[in-house]
Amino acid sequence: MVTLNLLKNRIRNIVGHPQLSRWMFKDTVSLFVYHDVSDETSLFCQAHALNVTPSQFVEQMKFISDHFHMIDPDVLLKGDFPTPAALVTFDDGMSGYFKNAVPIMEKMKIPSLLFLNMAPIEGKLFWSGLVTYLTAHDPNFVKFVQERKGDQSHLPAFLLCDPQMVTDYVSAHGASDLEARVRAYYGEFGTIRDLEQAAKNPFVFYGNHLYNHYNAAWLTDDELREQYYQNQKSIDQFSCGRKLFAYPFGQPGSCFTVNQTQILKDCGAEAVFFSGGGTNKVNKKQVVFDRVGVDPYVKTINDLNSRLQAGSLRAALRTFKKTI
Ligand SMILES: [Zn+2]
Repeated sequence: MVTLNLLKNRIRNIVGHPQLSRWMFKDTVSLFVYHDVSDETSLFCQAHALNVTPSQFVEQMKFISDHFHMIDPDVLLKGDFPTPAALVTFDDGMSGYFKNAVPIMEKMKIPSLLFLNMAPIEGKLFWSGLVTYLTAHDPNFVKFVQERKGDQSHLPAFLLCDPQMVTDYVSAHGASDLEARVRAYYGEFGTIRDLEQAAKNPFVFYGNHLYNHYNAAWLTDDELREQYYQNQKSIDQFSCGRKLFAYPFGQPGSCFTVNQTQILKDCGAEAVFFSGGGTNKVNKKQVVFDRVGVDPYVKTINDLNSRLQAGSLRAALRTFKKTI
């Protein structure tokens, strides 16, 4: 086992070597996804590897900015920048972004784009927190979802939920303290005041992540438009608000459709982001971008490069499968 791990590390170091990667990532822009930056993270973030500590974050920002030209979303859309380039994005709006990430990034002069769902910011229950909590803690819920979406039961139950299905389940079976347990599970979100404060920072930009964190694939076209507009109305209140959209969950094949990307563009989204794990070849006309998650397991630039290469390979395979 030790030998296998050593071999894996060796391969990762060779594949992720900065010289090789500089050549491979020539003419690319990579978009990194974070969620929380905290020393006291929630069980939700722990379960899904969505948190890095502030000291891990500082280390990651150092090696990322040493190897990539850091850009902001306005520069990304113009398409005119030196490569390899990178944009740091955050999803959801957890409090660690405001408390820890923003001050660190301000000091390092690194821009960030935060994709917000305003529902939990306004104090409503965070959809992703609810469905991941039920998936992890309630076997009857998993059975209930799988019975209704049987043909897709290879996916985790939290990716298979439409809003009505969960409302039905919770009103029939939810315990009276369910909401309190779910809130404790996913932890603290930023507040409107946090958003107002951070908006004064020239390195901070806001984008749209639906009003609540639904899997877009299970929304009707009208629900998708309504969720987009309701959220965008709040984002437009801020001078750092942009008409940029990231799909919640974001996985190709299970979290959105090509038709939905067109609907969002028709709603006014200037660019649409998903989370397939790959990088993007720079193309001035491009308005759909892939992103890659960064977590505590990314300790060196080699780790990050090999993750990007693996994601880009998966993206190439997806394109290849569509053409045959
Ligand atoms: Zn999200």
